[in-house]
Amino acid sequence: MNNIILIGLPGSGKTTLGMRLSKQTGLEFIDLDEHITATSGTSINDIFAQHGEPYFRDLETRVLTEALKRDKCIIATGGGIVLRDENVKLMRQNGLVVFNDRPVENITSDIKIGSRPLLKDGVEKLMELDKQRREIYLKAAHLILPNNGGLEKALEILGVCCGALSCGEYTVIGDPIGHSLSPPIHNAVFMQVGVSESYGSVHVKPGSLEAFVAAAKAFGIKGFNITHPHKQDIIPMLDSVNGDAKLCSSVNTVVNVDGKLHGYNTDMQGLNLSLRGAGHSYTGRRLMLLGAGGAAAAVALKAATEGVAEMYILNRNLYRSSELAETVEARTGFKAAALGFSEQELITTAKQCDLVINSTPLGMSGKDSDFESLEFLKYLDKKTLVCDLIYNPPKTKLLLQSEKLGLDTLNGLGMLIYQAILADEFYIDKELDKQQLYGAVVESLK
Ligand code: NAP
Repeated sequence: MNNIILIGLPGSGKTTLGMRLSKQTGLEFIDLDEHITATSGTSINDIFAQHGEPYFRDLETRVLTEALKRDKCIIATGGGIVLRDENVKLMRQNGLVVFNDRPVENITSDIKIGSRPLLKDGVEKLMELDKQRREIYLKAAHLILPNNGGLEKALEILGVCCGALSCGEYTVIGDPIGHSLSPPIHNAVFMQVGVSESYGSVHVKPGSLEAFVAAAKAFGIKGFNITHPHKQDIIPMLDSVNGDAKLCSSVNTVVNVDGKLHGYNTDMQGLNLSLRGAGHSYTGRRLMLLGAGGAAAAVALKAATEGVAEMYILNRNLYRSSELAETVEARTGFKAAALGFSEQELITTAKQCDLVINSTPLGMSGKDSDFESLEFLKYLDKKTLVCDLIYNPPKTKLLLQSEKLGLDTLNGLGMLIYQAILADEFYIDKELDKQQLYGAVVESLK
């Protein structure tokens, strides 16, 4: 069964966290100490006083075993649950074990010492427990939740774990993620190829990525896609990084094979298929690449290895375009030119190019920035393809103006759909009919 199980010192706030999380997510909350009290009809203090600790521990194991038969619950445990190896094994087999790591000084300012059986002897006892148990908590936990500040940060991280619990067998993660088209695209592919599993989305902010990865492993999520801003940060958390992901140090697809996470990148091949579908490729082309961020780096590295004749990288921040040109040369041996983003630089470069790829967010829905001038389009060869990685809106001003000038255009939807189909090939370990699936996905998105 898959549950979120909170462990940690007595008084560290596991119950408060569990209750708040349950309210936030709608998942059921179980407080083991409360269940023990209800089962025995006696308070925990009285059980300890009348029957001693071994009796209490037997009761605790019984209640834990019952609770873990449930699925998708948040369970707060008593501080000593980890003292029995049997309990630790049970918890690790039935969910994500989270060590609520609240320092003793925070606990002593949070609670009334003496209110718990093992704390009746005061702060010294708590410090002793911390010394005795810290290593055991660390060893038992899949995830350590640093909790020395406000509750909100801890709740945000645990919220990500709850997202991982509810998202299905596959998911996309990123920040923001609310309007991602990945779930409808992947679910459409799954339906077409007869996969009954489901694909969801989890909002993972920077700082919660490690928690998501621990949860994905504990819950056996079979695979996940990664979007902005985690494509680089995920790399140290993976067991292997392969192919294009290695070439451009960026991962958009992770496959979980028996608890080992393998990273791939299908963005670049996705763009290649989209270009090919529109009758274009990099071979022999003179590429004007706008932007030098993550997407631009992937395009530049792939184009350099796929026979582009010339490459000009134009970016607002010249330092970044120079850095990207250096990376391309260091990794592929291809010499690209680095420029700024002034109108003059755009025009001068346009005169020499027949393929434009916009990898800046200029013109994207929800952003209020756009190209200050599109004058440079007039200087492009008439056979030029202007490709915008943006797919919302389907036609940016850049594409509309290019169309008016009679240039060939392509938006980012093809790249998005093809990278998803290629990721699905990794997920189900089978070559798919990409062209047929592309058509089916486009239909389903209408
Ligand atoms: P990123 O790493 O944040 O890079 C953004 C780039 O845009 C940087 O080079 C940045 O220049 C430039 N930029 C931002 N605002 C600008 C402005 N006002 N004027 C001029 N340049 C500006 O983002 P990314 O991940 O590479 O994504 C870039 C675009 O590609 C986004 O629109 C994204 O949606 C799209 N994309 C599409 C797909 C797809 O499947 N279709 C996949 C990935 C990305 P500075 O260095 O000067 O800041």
